Order: sequence, then structure tokens, then C-alpha cells
Amino acid sequence: MLALFDLDGTLADRAAGLRAWAVEFCADHGLDLAEADWLVEADGDGRVAKEEFFGRVRERYGLAESFEELFRQYSEWQPTLIPVYDGVLGGLERLRSAGWRLGVVTNGYQVVQTNTLVSTGIAERVDGWAISGAEDVWKPDVRLFEIAAARAGGKPGADGWMVGDSTADIVGGHAAGLRTIWLHHDRPWPAAEPAPTRTVSNPTEAIALILGLGIA
Ligand SMILES: [Mg+2]
Repeated sequence: MLALFDLDGTLADRAAGLRAWAVEFCADHGLDLAEADWLVEADGDGRVAKEEFFGRVRERYGLAESFEELFRQYSEWQPTLIPVYDGVLGGLERLRSAGWRLGVVTNGYQVVQTNTLVSTGIAERVDGWAISGAEDVWKPDVRLFEIAAARAGGKPGADGWMVGDSTADIVGGHAAGLRTIWLHHDRPWPAAEPAPTRTVSNPTEAIALILGLGIA
């Protein structure tokens, strides 16, 4: 029995962590705290490459620090500000106790995602993970799901689940042969894509579903 999870926006609240980092970055660099809004916007929910992001940051604020230095600071610091969603750590423990093999499938930089997994406490509660930046394979490519499954010691199959908040999670999970649970975050599912097996509003509901407890 295999359950795979996306990380950002599914198990951990990256948006909250990014916001906290932006506020601290402003304070550290003597910037108006209102610039935190600009930083969050420029981050593009993590989809903007960090070379581009920090290039814009350096230009806007006339920073002397190199990209390498700014990225090193970010990758050590920002992950420690990312909270896990309520109930996730206990939920992962319950899943494991019930015999599930657990894996994380995440798009992002190896150092940032690894630090996030460790600092949130998720790393020690799952059996393996696959990070796109480390494998050079990106969701929705099924190969990233297969790598995570192998590391978790499970096989993707119709008795397994993929849980995520992006269409890439659901499309890729489905292509890998898994049932899928989408965290909607108050967004409608894009009609052009094959629908997820189930839709929930938070990871606790997803974990309850996998445990067979049902949801209200
Ligand atoms: Mg996500």
C-alpha cells in the first residue's frame, strides 16, 4: 500500500513560509515592510526560477550580495519558516502505523526541498522522496512518481494514492496508475483535465480518506 504526497501546498504551507521569509528579508535589508508583498508576488508561488527572482531582487534593492550568496541564505533560512499543516505529522504517523508506505514527490530545488522535508519533521515520517531538481525530472512526468515509489519501498498501483494541490500532481499521479486526491484550496478543478478521484479541503481529510475513515 503506497501513498505519495506533494510537499508545498499539500503537507507544508510554503505560502506562509515564503511570506514569513519576505518579511524577515525586508527587516534584514532595511526595506519597507510593504516590500514583502512585492517579494511574494515576484516569487510567483515558487514557479519563478530563483536566478530570475534574485536577479530582480538585486536590481530593485541595489544589493551587493551575489546570486549565489542570496540563494544560499534563502535555501538555509526559508525552509525553516515553512509550517506543516495541522494534523499532518500525526496523520503520517497513523498512516505508517496502518501499514502504508509513504513517499513525497516534489518539484523544486534539491537543497530547498530537502531542508523543508527535514525542518518540518516530514522527512522522518515518510519512507522516501523524489525531488525534481535532484532527478532532473519534473511532475507531471510519471518517472518522478516512480522514483518516489521505489524509494518509499512501494509500487504505484490502483490500491495506492497520490495527494496534491496542483494539476501536475493529479495528472501525473493518475498517469502513474494511482488514485488521486486533490486539495482544492478554494479553486475549481480545471475542466480540461481528467478529474481527481476525490477532492478535499485540507490534508487531514486526505489522510482520513486514505485510512478509510471517510470525511464529513
Ligand atoms: Mg503543491
